[in-house]
Order: sequence, then C-alpha cells, then structure tokens
Amino acid sequence: MTSITVQHVTKRFTQASKSGARTVYALQDVSVSVRSGDTLAILGPSGCGKSTLLRVIAGLTKPDAGEVFYDRVNLNDIPLQERGIGMVFQDGALVPHWEAERTIGFHLWLRHRQQEVPERIARISQITGFGMDALLERRPRELSGGEKQRVAVARALARDPRVFLFDEPFSNLDAKLRTQARFELHRLLDEFPVTSIYVTHDQIEASALADCVAVMREGRIEQLDAFAKLYDDPHNLFVATFIGTPTINLLEGTVRDHCWHGMTFGGFPVREGLAEGTRLLAGVRAEGISFAPEGELGQIALATLHLEQRRVELEVRANGEHWTMFTAMEEGFRAGDPIPCAIDPAAVLYFDPETGRRVS
Ligand code: ADP
Ligand code: MG
Repeated sequence: MTSITVQHVTKRFTQASKSGARTVYALQDVSVSVRSGDTLAILGPSGCGKSTLLRVIAGLTKPDAGEVFYDRVNLNDIPLQERGIGMVFQDGALVPHWEAERTIGFHLWLRHRQQEVPERIARISQITGFGMDALLERRPRELSGGEKQRVAVARALARDPRVFLFDEPFSNLDAKLRTQARFELHRLLDEFPVTSIYVTHDQIEASALADCVAVMREGRIEQLDAFAKLYDDPHNLFVATFIGTPTINLLEGTVRDHCWHGMTFGGFPVREGLAEGTRLLAGVRAEGISFAPEGELGQIALATLHLEQRRVELEVRANGEHWTMFTAMEEGFRAGDPIPCAIDPAAVLYFDPETGRRVS
C-alpha cells in the first residue's frame, strides 16, 4: 500500500475578467499526508481548492511550488503507468458508447487478464450488496445517475489502484441514493483498504467515510483532524461554523471577574490571562443548551420536529440574540411558548471576534 505526502503546494490560476487578468490562489502552501490504507476527506465550500488539490495529487495539474510523494518517491519520478490511480469524478466520466462490462474490465483487458473480470464484478457486487449483473450490458445513457457512479467506482477498483481518488462522486444523486451509495462505498473501502482521498462539500460523507478530515478555505487547510475533533475542538470560527448541523450558536459577551458574561447567559469561568473587558464570542452547540426550569427565559420563534430522534429543534430569542437547541418531543414545546434555558459551561468554546481564533 501507499502513503501520500503533499508538501508546501501552491497553485495559482490567471483568470480573465472585465478589468483585466487577475490571479487566483487555488492552493496556498498546502501540506497534508495520508497514511497507507487510510481515507482522508477534503471538505470545504465550493471554490476553496478541493478539486485542484486532488488533481495535483493525481498528477493531472502541475503545482507552481511544492511536491507530492507516493511513499517516499516524488510523483514526478513515477511513470504514469506505475502510479496506480483509480479516480472517480462527479459525473462518472464514462465512455458514452461502452457497455458497463467493457468499462469496468478495460484495464484488465489491456493486460490480457479479461478472464478475471467476472470474478471482480461478482466480488464488488457481494461486498456492496448491489447487483452489478443487471448493468453489465448497458451503456451510460441506459444507466441512472446512481448506476453510472457505481460503474465508475467498479472501474476504478478493477484497476487494483494504489490510491483511490474521489471528487464529489455522489453530489449529483438525490439524498436517498446518496446515503445508499455512501454506505456501499464505506463497505468497499473497509474491504479494499486502498489509500483514499475523498473530496466533498458534505460533512456527513466526510464523517462517515474518512479517518481524517482536512477542512479547506480559500486555498488553505484550516484544520486537519478526525471529524470528532473538528466538531469538539475547532481551532477557529470558520471550522466551528462549517462543521456541525445545526450551525454552532454564537453569543457576544465580555470578560468580567475572570468570567464570560453575555446578554442572556453568563458567569462562565474563562482561562487565566484574559483582560477585563475583553470581547469574546461564546460558541455553544445546540446540545450544550437545555431546558432548565430555573434558567434564563427565552421565547420560541420556531419549533421543528425531528421525529426519528424524538426531539424538537427550537429557535429561541431573547435580548436581541437567538440560539438553537433541542428538547425532547414529550416536553411539548411549541412556537410562541416561553422557555427557560441553561448553558453547560463546559460545552462553551471562546473565540476572538476580530481574528476568529479560538481563545479558550
Ligand atoms: P473546489 O473544487 O473546492 O470547488 P477548485 O479547486 O475547483 O475548487 O477551484 C479553486 C479556485 O481555483 C476557484 O477559484 C476556481 O475558480 C479556480 N480554478 C480552478 N481551476 C481553474 C482553471 N483551470 N483556470 C482558472 N481558474 C481555476
Ligand atoms: Mg471541485
């Protein structure tokens, strides 16, 4: 198997605009590594450089600076046919007039190993629980979006890749199909532990499939960690607000007597060394705020039922601020009701409102 190391990669593009050419930094000094057999997710909003990073790792785009290594060998020194890359794109990129069987088997056929194709296909069908047999005779226009992506994944696997690269492979599928496809891929990645990189803007996919997640913003990696760490211990406001649904609550406040005090809540101890009057944003996830009979009073603006979890998501307002929280369905809260609330001080993350950096 193969580890992947990216060192100090920078890539700029020149884009024409009405006011002349402008330079876009798609990647700015990006370093990241993936251990052999692991899956890394690259997560970030549209345009942040995810595809460019994947293409640099695949050797399809040449960086302006920096290097990519497979194991300890510079990618530039590995001949194309020895790179062993299996890639799956958003649109499948299948050859229009080829039947699925030919697409999947092409790489083996080239190497005079076409007799292995049926067994490969049977194995993939068995692991995913998805019958590929019915698709084998069909051409791309006779396949649904989900079926096309399954053929594209099977094609990539049939190449015996050293590295498996995915660029938002399921983003064109509807929600239900996407869940199913993600589940099948998860089983495949467990069964074939190929070093993989998975580009997505969907945090559920990232958390389900990856050992480690790189959160990107404007050409840089903001944080590289396990998903749980990004959620519980974000380094800055961007990561804190990008990760997690509903979005983390942010409440303004200041430091007094070594405690944070906001408009509605307060009296939470903060770390030593913060001057009196320091302004801090308190970040608290919905599960860090709860219904508490002795708590601070808010007014419910909106109540949304999450039936599968037997709970209600509440949008609560008080003193010109608002927050999201959950209550058990049985509590019976509705829009318009008053609700007393308390924050668990241990669940609060503090940020510098100017720089966005985590303070405590
Ligand atoms: P993402 O995959 O995260 O949506 P991309 O890596 O595709 O982002 O793009 C990052 C930035 O680089 C964007 O601003 C995009 O417009 C720009 N870019 C990407 N490829 C090219 C290209 N071939 N020519 C010019 N600009 C590009
Ligand atoms: Mg992209």
